[in-house]
Amino acid sequence: MRVYNFSPGPAVLPQEVLEQAREEMLDWRGTGMSVMEMSHRGKAFISIAEAAEADLRELLGVPKSYKVLFLQGGAMGQFAGVPLNLSKPGDTVDYVNTGAWSKKAIGEAKQYARVNVAADAGEPYTNIPLLSNWKVSENAAYLHYTPNETIGGVEFHFVPELKNGTPLVADMSSTLLSRPIDIAKFGVIYGGAQKNVGPAGLTLVIVREDLLGRARPGTPAFMDYSAMAKEGSMLNTPPTYAWYMAGLVFQWLKRQGGLKAMGETNRRKAELLYTAIDSSSFYKNPVQHDARSWMNIPFVLARPELDKTFIAEAKDAGLVTLEGHRSVGGMRASIYNAMPLAGVEALVSFMKEFERKHA
Ligand SMILES: *Cc1c(COP(=O)(O)O)cnc(C)c1O
Repeated sequence: MRVYNFSPGPAVLPQEVLEQAREEMLDWRGTGMSVMEMSHRGKAFISIAEAAEADLRELLGVPKSYKVLFLQGGAMGQFAGVPLNLSKPGDTVDYVNTGAWSKKAIGEAKQYARVNVAADAGEPYTNIPLLSNWKVSENAAYLHYTPNETIGGVEFHFVPELKNGTPLVADMSSTLLSRPIDIAKFGVIYGGAQKNVGPAGLTLVIVREDLLGRARPGTPAFMDYSAMAKEGSMLNTPPTYAWYMAGLVFQWLKRQGGLKAMGETNRRKAELLYTAIDSSSFYKNPVQHDARSWMNIPFVLARPELDKTFIAEAKDAGLVTLEGHRSVGGMRASIYNAMPLAGVEALVSFMKEFERKHA
């Protein structure tokens, strides 16, 4: 039996996609082999790879002047990949700190460049620092921010447009494809696939072409955007099966009506859960209203001694992986694209019933 899986990542995938993968598992379209068993340089896989990229470009409206890379190493690989590709030793790079993932990105960047923290939300990281107060550097190689903090459940509902022309770099691991975005506002967008895109093992990088060719000496070739772009992400063996699965997710997204329709569903799902939390004194979400994530919704119980009971009873009701991050505690519901509205409705009615029983 399938459960409603609220995991932050690796996360739920659309059931239709899993069924199609099962259907195609042993013999992909008459090739007599699984996609996992194919040469990445053969005609069959090349057609899979090209279709996935074309569908992703269509969904996001990626301009021609951007390259889309299908890499490995996760978002964390890009915490190093970004400074290696976009800055020289001694350069200043701007970072905005909105929580756990920002901090990790900053920590890694410090190994490569001079980090200026242009804005810091500060403990307990439940808001987005006011843009007019950001102290951006005049000559930063780029400004990096985390549009959605997966652990804290804090999300930017705007793109911070910089007047000084500094390229904007965004770790979109847990929000990419959740709604339309204007790619042209960014220099680089990257993300691990395992939140909202596909299975673990694939990392997407969308990079504006004028930022290519800048990797500093010593950058490992497989992390060099230009080298990878030149080889169509096939300088070495790409994560072929994850690439294929992401392609199935892109087709599924198109069948759902694309990112505008998806965004509306995601907004409704989030509203439903936040309303349930806010209208009860038993549950609480600490995030400032204008910074609340549509994708990851943490909440705590008025009686934290009931946390374990909540998790256990939720599991019995088919609602799993609701534990909050180990650094935060409480609960967290991750409601990515593949979580249907019915899953959020089931969670909300479980929460009401749990409150009735235990409040
Ligand atoms: C999960 C996550 C990461 C880490 O991703 P990996 O693919 O595990 O390296 C980084 N940033 C954000 C915002 C995330 O949600």
